[in-house]
Amino acid sequence: KETNLTQMMTDIIKRLQPMADAKYISLQWDASKEIHAEADEMKLSLAISNLVDNAVKYTPEEGTVKVSLDADHQNVFISVADTGIGIPEDEVNRIFERFYRVDKTRDRETGGTGLGLSITHSTIMMHKGSIKVNSKEEEGTTILVRIPLKQPTTHG
Ligand code: ATP
Ligand code: MG
Repeated sequence: KETNLTQMMTDIIKRLQPMADAKYISLQWDASKEIHAEADEMKLSLAISNLVDNAVKYTPEEGTVKVSLDADHQNVFISVADTGIGIPEDEVNRIFERFYRVDKTRDRETGGTGLGLSITHSTIMMHKGSIKVNSKEEEGTTILVRIPLKQPTTHG
């Protein structure tokens, strides 16, 4: 189904803005390009929400979270970049597992079940896309999502 991703993202940012405000985090989002794609809007919205929620949750007060949306002829690119606590190199490849939480965050006041990213991952896979993590401890994390503009047609 055709989805207005710019509108979807704007709604996500609006919903999470109070959480960012409470931590004096600058939540940056540029809604100037209107981008549409074939997607399951409910599922994709939750998937991207989980990323922005994490970015705000794992970024200390007065940090920055930058969200961007772009497209070329084939793909949509969404990135969520934060100036947060980062993820240790030896744990990066585990964060998409169900219930996985990084040691340091496990007993933190920032509650969570460790399900968010596993849901995000399966939704991106369902859309035949990809998700990549760039992270450095004490510096921040950037999550890059790609999904095709059109979903492959199923025959038969
Ligand atoms: P839930 O999303 O279910 O509320 P959660 O946030 O702990 O709980 P995930 O979203 O699956 O679970 O993330 C898994 C773990 O990856 C987190 O517990 C955290 O340790 C780490 N993590 C995820 N995003 C970030 C980020 N932007 N910066 C630092 N660590 C992160
Ligand atoms: Mg989460």
